[in-house]
Amino acid sequence: MPRCTAKSKRSQNQCLKWAMFGKNTCHMHGGKSKGPLTKEGKDNSRKAAFRHGAYTKQSLALYNEAISLIRKIKNLLSNT
Ligand SMILES: [Zn+2]
Repeated sequence: MPRCTAKSKRSQNQCLKWAMFGKNTCHMHGGKSKGPLTKEGKDNSRKAAFRHGAYTKQSLALYNEAISLIRKIKNLLSNT
């Protein structure tokens, strides 16, 4: 069984209590939590974790497309 991975804010020491079964944290540090269960709760959680959107699927696809276009242009320029 693993130890709790929570760290103290003040001392930065690890908790070291036994983690709950199947979890990484003890009962004092969120081991009992099941996380957001409803659709509304999951949406709220996603919104809270969203920072700037630079790593969304759409922006990453756009970035990869731009990189591939730049590579094509470089290849064309180097061949001539
Ligand atoms: Zn703990």
